[in-house]
Parts: sequence; structure tokens; C-alpha cells
Amino acid sequence: MRILHQIHTQLITRPSTTAFALSKLIAFCAISPFGNPHYAQTLLTQNPSPTIYQYNTLLKTTPLRQSFQLFNNLVTKKESVKANIYTYKFLLEKCVKEGLHVHEGLQMHAHVIRCGFYVSLTLHALLVRFYVGCEEMGYARKVFDEMYDKGLVVWSYVIGGYVKVGLFDEGLGVFGEILKAGVVPDEVVMASVVKGVAGLGALDVGIWVHGYIVKRRILVDVKLGTALVNMYAKCGCIEKAKEVFDGMVVKDSRAWSSMIVGFAIHGLADEALSIFADMEQAKVKPNHVAYLGVLLACAHGQLVCEGKRMWAKMLESGIQPTMEHYSCMVDLYCRANLFPEASTFIKNMPVDPDPVIWRTFLVACKKNKDMEKGEAAGQKLLELEPSNPENYALFSSFYAACSEWSKMGHMKKEMRDKGLKTIPGCSSIEIDGTVHEFVLGDWSHPETKEIKEVLSDILIRVKALGHKPNVSEILHDVGDEVKEEALCEHSERLAIAYGILKTKSPVVIRVVKNLRVCGDCHEVTKIISRLYEREIIVRDRVRFHRFVGGRCSCNDIW
Ligand SMILES: [Zn+2]
Ligand SMILES: [Zn+2]
Repeated sequence: MRILHQIHTQLITRPSTTAFALSKLIAFCAISPFGNPHYAQTLLTQNPSPTIYQYNTLLKTTPLRQSFQLFNNLVTKKESVKANIYTYKFLLEKCVKEGLHVHEGLQMHAHVIRCGFYVSLTLHALLVRFYVGCEEMGYARKVFDEMYDKGLVVWSYVIGGYVKVGLFDEGLGVFGEILKAGVVPDEVVMASVVKGVAGLGALDVGIWVHGYIVKRRILVDVKLGTALVNMYAKCGCIEKAKEVFDGMVVKDSRAWSSMIVGFAIHGLADEALSIFADMEQAKVKPNHVAYLGVLLACAHGQLVCEGKRMWAKMLESGIQPTMEHYSCMVDLYCRANLFPEASTFIKNMPVDPDPVIWRTFLVACKKNKDMEKGEAAGQKLLELEPSNPENYALFSSFYAACSEWSKMGHMKKEMRDKGLKTIPGCSSIEIDGTVHEFVLGDWSHPETKEIKEVLSDILIRVKALGHKPNVSEILHDVGDEVKEEALCEHSERLAIAYGILKTKSPVVIRVVKNLRVCGDCHEVTKIISRLYEREIIVRDRVRFHRFVGGRCSCNDIW
């Protein structure tokens, strides 16, 4: 640096050679490990006639905040030097890498347009990537639509972006546009598409997409393979998930854990444990998702000893449990009706339990009619999530189970006063590639008349078999007859009835529900599967239920 200072002094005394040499000097100070970025900035700001090359060199190397300041100086100062295309390229690349607030990105976007650089495809692509990174899909889409030549990478950003923020329909819509544009997608694009299908739970679309991958000979790498396993598992086709998994040549820890979680959500605890053992045998170190999968499987399968063994093993392997792992353990004890163990486990947790854990515990308190612990759990829930209607509904049903009617009334009043409404149940079924949605008590479907006929046929036949509706699922203060009627209008019943109406055996009736299946609908669906000789798969918020011949794969624990 001492020599540099000398060179700098020399330069000041001989202005004719300054520009080029000063640029070199700034570059050295900014980039070289022997340099001094701070000094580089001083050199630039003190230079009466800086060049854009000098600015860009600094922009490229200084930390993001500083370079943005530098950029602001550049665009606000009335200097002869103007930002060029590289200025924006370097800055945007940095924003993508390090993340910047969307507001500042918008500012830069405006400058790019004003300076006439909006024709550059590189800048377009960088802007799309930046907005996708900020999860601002509206802006990303706008820039994307304005591109006259879209490379595969940009398509990939947009589809991936939509899927990441949960706008699966939009993501698949862009995939449709790719096909229309005649572009052949690669495995990266297809992995995003498959993830989108999994999010929608649309099996027919998934099968088509998989067929397309095979037909186009798109390379199924470990990421795409894992996405396919996950998609089939989430769409209720666990056999197909296993088939894809078995066909994968290379399996990393994500691929293994996808298969484990797949078995777990299908209630196949033994299979999940056996895949976990295979994973260890294959010398792939189980990650936290693999442990989450086996714990989930143990909880659903009521395998308490195995669950505890896995928990100990996970801690031994140095994996820090997340809230989801703790939640699984509480679930394991609660489902197995080991109420004291659940209580002790929560008490000994080194972190504060989240609402999911308190809800699981409150359900167990309700089953055990434990007023003291239940009230404490309920209070915690309302403290943590005072605006979640689900908590009030659960808390009141807890009071109802404990026959504390006045407290139940009070809870309901509080919910009303706060203007909170429970989320209505919503179920969907895909028929011939179209998804039909049903909401509790909503009769806006064009085939309502036919659906009602199927529903009443079900009701008569189910009643003839001696089924008594479990009206305790309904908390309103109305007569049993009204409650029975309300149960018949649960969204999953409408979707199943529509499935019976529109399809014939052996087509599997596949229903996706946003909430947990209620006890009465679960019973009735079991009976339907036997009476109508139909296989029915219901994916609720927590897991899959596969109804065949009057039985459900969950063995009535869910
Ligand atoms: Zn129901
Ligand atoms: Zn079930």
C-alpha cells in the first residue's frame, strides 16, 4: 500500500496519464488481496473526472449496500459519466446473489428502462431472476412477458418461482406456454413442473407429465427422480412412487427421505422403517427429513418403542431437532394415548412449543378430559395465535367434551366478538383433467341435482346398515336431525358422491381435502367403499386414507 500511495502521488502530479493508470490503481485496490477497498473508493470519489470503468470495477467488488450507494451517486450526480449496461449487469447479479429489497430493485428497473438498456436480454433475465428471488411473481411475470426471446433458463426461473410461492396453477400454465412455443424443456424445468403437480395433487396431470418426460427422453437426474417420487406419493399413488424410486440409479439423502416421508403419509409405517434401514445400509447418512419421516411413520403406526429409538438415534447422530420433530414425538405419545409421557415431553422441551404442538396436546386433553392441562394448553394457544379460528373451535370442543357448557359458550362468544369464522371444509376431485371443488353446504355445482340424488341414495343405504351418525362432530346448538343433515353436506361427501356419479369401478375415487376428515365422514366413507365396491383415497391436511372393502389404511387412527 505504501508503494501505491507513492504511485498515486505521482499520478496527481502528472495528470496527462491519469485516467488509464488510475483505473488500474482502483482495480488493484478493489480486487487484490493486498489492496484496500476503502482506499479504492476514496480514489474514485476524489477523482474529478471518473470513468464508468472505474465505477464498475468498484461496484463489482464492494459489498451490496455500498455498491448501491455508489450507484445512487452515479445516477444522481450531474456528471459526464453515465451508467452503462455492465453497471446494471454487475449490480443485478449481486442483488440476485445477496438479496436486496424489492423496492431498490424496482428503482434499478426504472433506471434500466430510462437509459434505454431494456433491450438487453441479459438484463431482462437478471430482472426476472431478481423478482423471483424476492417472490414478487407479478413483476417477474411482467418482465418475462416483455422478453422477445426467452431462453430455457428464464422459463425455468418463472415456473420454479410460481411453484415456490405455491401458485401451482400458474406454474403449470407457464409450462403449457413452453410446449406451445415449441421449446423442449430440460430436467430442471421438469423438476419444477413435477413439484407443481405434487402441490396440486393432480394425479392425471402427473401421469401425463411423467409420460412426456419418458417420451422426450428428458434426463431423469436425482432431482427430477426425487420430485417424481414425491409427486406420486402426494397424489396418492405410493406403488408408483416406489417404482420410480427403485428405478433411480443414484439416490442421495433427499431421494431416500422423500420415499420415507411418502410411506409415512400413507400410514405404511413398516415400509418407512424398512426404507430407512436400507438407506443406512447404502451408507447414505439420514438427514433431518429422513428422521422426520420415520418419526411421522411411528406416530401414525403407534410404534412408540421404535419412535423413541429413532429419536435417540437422531440426537446421537448430532441432528438438532426442529419444531416439527418435537411435534412428531408429542403426536406419537398422544396417538398412543400415553398422556403423561406427552405432558412430560412437552415440559422438558428446551424450546417453547409452537401452536401445532399445543393443538395436538389439547386434542389429547380432550380425549382424557383433563381440565387443568387442557385449559393451560388452550390458553397458550390463544396467546400464540389469537386470530386463528381453529384454536377457538378446538378449545370450545374441548370444553364440550368436559361438559363445561358455560365455558364453551364463553369461548364461542369470544370468537364471535372477534369476528373470527372457521375455515370452511373444501374438497376437490379431478374428473377427466378438470378439478371440481366442493365447499361445505355450497350447491353451486351445475350437477347439483344428480349429486343430491347420489347423496340421498348413500344416506338410505348407509342407514339401512345401522350406521348412527356421530352428531358430536357438530358443535351447533341445534337438533340431531339438523346435525345429521349438516354432516351429509360435508365437502368430502359431495366430492365422493360426484366421483360415484361420474366414474365407474375400478377407477379409484381420489379426493383432496383442506382440513382433517371428520369421524363421521370417515365411518361413512368406509361403508361406501364396501357398499359401492369402490376404492376411495382421501388426502386430508395430515395424511392419506385409503378406503377399500369397508376398511381404511389408517386403521382408524388419524
Ligand atoms: Zn365430515
Ligand atoms: Zn382413515
